[in-house]
Amino acid sequence: MNRSASTLQEAPLCLQPVWDLVRSQESWLRSPFFAVLFSLGVYMSFCLPFVVLDLLATRVSFLQRYKIQTHNNPSLKMMASCVGQTLYNHMVYIFPLSVAGWLWRPVHLPPTAPELPEALLGIAACLLLFDFQYFVWHLLHHKVPWLYRTFHKAHHKYTATFALTTEHSGAWETLSLGFFAAVNPALLRCHPLTTLLFFTVNIWLSVEDHSGYDFPWSTHRLVPLGLYGGAPHHDLHHMKFKANYAPYFTHWDKLLGTYATAHSKPH
Ligand SMILES: [Zn+2]
Ligand SMILES: [Zn+2]
Repeated sequence: MNRSASTLQEAPLCLQPVWDLVRSQESWLRSPFFAVLFSLGVYMSFCLPFVVLDLLATRVSFLQRYKIQTHNNPSLKMMASCVGQTLYNHMVYIFPLSVAGWLWRPVHLPPTAPELPEALLGIAACLLLFDFQYFVWHLLHHKVPWLYRTFHKAHHKYTATFALTTEHSGAWETLSLGFFAAVNPALLRCHPLTTLLFFTVNIWLSVEDHSGYDFPWSTHRLVPLGLYGGAPHHDLHHMKFKANYAPYFTHWDKLLGTYATAHSKPH
């Protein structure tokens, strides 16, 4: 048995096969279009199941029990408007950034994958940093009326969330969030696979946050001790405006007295 085969047998959760698969698409990874197509493709793929649920929810009453704001269903026109905004943001802002990033930073594809614990730690650290950065940005854009009116109001067009509202934002918010997401793996010198996994998890969590559904398997039910707010936490922010500024975790809102649940008010 050669060395690599024995290593794989000893470590069944090794990320090397995944990384080898990713590296086999090297020409795509090195393309100036990769970042924008990855961002759009992953986002739309994660939205799609919720779009199907939204279309079914008006006909299948069983689904209503999982809706956070029961019987508040988005219309096709609302969905089309959000898709239009997402495509516009990707073409006008994210595509030029994707090309600029490609010119500025050559893609580095080391032959070895990160260890699984290292990748998980990197993803958790990036998520915690992103959560803190967006909490500060978000609080500021609610406390300063000019910032709210000019930059953040577009994201609050809908008081009942549905998946496609996730990226219903203006230029400054889209670019700020893109910057926070991109800078953390670079600051922490994450492996490119850890970076890709963080981007994927980050997009999933932001879509789930806006899904408008609370399922038994939703992330906030899987993370213990109420450390993670998730969809009910963020939906309440869209409904009440004055609470729950952190996108994912609950510690910053609890520390600063801006945490609220459906049965409480921020203190
Ligand atoms: Zn807000
Ligand atoms: Zn939101």
